[in-house]
Amino acid sequence: MTDLSTSLKIEPTVFELSSPGRQGHSFPELDVPHAEIPKSLLRDDLPLPELAEVDVARHFTRLSQLNHGVDTGFYPLGSCTMKYNPKINEATSRLPGFANIHPLQPIETVQGAIGLMFELQEWLKEISGFAGITLQPAAGAHGELTGVLIMRAYHRARGDDRRVKMLIPDSAHGTNPASSAMSGLEIVEIPSDTRGNIDLAALRAECDETLAGIMITNPNTLGLFDENLRQVCDCVHEAGGLVYGDGANFNAIMGISRPADCGVDVLHFNLHKTFSTPHGGGGPGSGPVGVTDELAAFLPGPIAAIVEEGDDEEPPLYGLVTPEKSIGRIKAFHGHFGVMTRAYTYIMMLGGEGLRAASEHAVLNANYLQARLRDTYKIPYDRICMHEFVAEGHWEDAPDIHALDISKRLMDFGFHPPTNYFPLIVPEALMIEPTETESKETLDAFADALIQIAEEARTQPDLLQTAPHRTPVGRLDEVKAARELVLCCWLPEK
Ligand SMILES: *Cc1c(COP(=O)(O)O)cnc(C)c1O
Repeated sequence: MTDLSTSLKIEPTVFELSSPGRQGHSFPELDVPHAEIPKSLLRDDLPLPELAEVDVARHFTRLSQLNHGVDTGFYPLGSCTMKYNPKINEATSRLPGFANIHPLQPIETVQGAIGLMFELQEWLKEISGFAGITLQPAAGAHGELTGVLIMRAYHRARGDDRRVKMLIPDSAHGTNPASSAMSGLEIVEIPSDTRGNIDLAALRAECDETLAGIMITNPNTLGLFDENLRQVCDCVHEAGGLVYGDGANFNAIMGISRPADCGVDVLHFNLHKTFSTPHGGGGPGSGPVGVTDELAAFLPGPIAAIVEEGDDEEPPLYGLVTPEKSIGRIKAFHGHFGVMTRAYTYIMMLGGEGLRAASEHAVLNANYLQARLRDTYKIPYDRICMHEFVAEGHWEDAPDIHALDISKRLMDFGFHPPTNYFPLIVPEALMIEPTETESKETLDAFADALIQIAEEARTQPDLLQTAPHRTPVGRLDEVKAARELVLCCWLPEK
């Protein structure tokens, strides 16, 4: 690596590119009656940028190229399942019959859309083993809140008001305690044992009559299938509690194991992760929640349903229903329909066998990478992993190098860094999730880069500490960026 240019070129904004009189639009001739716009709505002092269409196209295309995305390179961001998103998903979600409808349209005119929601619910039931599904939640964290509110409503409906305690393993994603706290529950942290499973003795000590339930992620955020899952579920159930499953890691188990069969009572899916919707940069997502028979009456409404069976000649009539003890609506209208069409397309394209193959390849890819890196990086919970694994980004003989330096240096090789410093129970964590969509060549190139970086950590540590060197912007002061956030670097002249 010779190119160490750290030159930082700040891209101009559209305002700075503006040139008076230039324009990028041409309106067709007026074909409706002319109407006056009220003077009070018109402003002369709004400094809009004036650019030709080509300037706008080049500006935004160039900006898009400064970003790393899954369409430009490998993106092994652990726990986020940044798989390649098939382009056919985009084509179907943009079909006019899906994209141009309105949630307040008469239901007879949107039968195809409600039918798609119904079928997606049915498929998610089959994949997970649950009896009821809501598609409303906007993302995984929102699904968690929904699921925990359902658990609380279930206990209250039985007059069981003492159940205020939620157990959360120390490997959990931060949204788990947040969702429980927002639902008014008290959180008790449960440690992991030396194999990365939930510590059974610690769990048993907390299973009493105040237990609302436990939130588990399986496979967990160490990428490990909890070997005690059955005992954990039994213990919680015997104490009268419920088991919440964080389904963010569903990509490891599609078509192989069903959470409902393992003793989970309520679970969220992250459609944008497992079922392929672009989600870097924050959304929109979709976090459907599945529940057992016992909890189905508490689901938020409305839910897509067949209200009149079809026959050989007539398709069924679809409608929207609200369960009798529903916790109520948790999202405007029906949720993020565009993400549902993408997930529907993805499931339909792959079929049952294809979904299973996707999970098998995701697990195979993670184990291949783990095996290639095991001699260079410490794997604190070293056993067969599922779709991801956690390595330590620190060595005793290179004490000044940290996981962050390794991540930054990886960018010079054209790779998105893995997740850093999570889960919290592994010091200097590098959480690596390759997904099923990567080839052996890509995995090898990534492993080679990490092995080279490990050597550089001993021979040229400053190369890592000052990385990245080949990105449009060099290393940022992350603390300053968070504390002194500047979202607008250009303001119009007064
Ligand atoms: C991503 C993730 C979540 C939160 O899901 P969002 O869709 O980002 O809200 C929760 N738990 C785990 C383990 C995750 O990886």
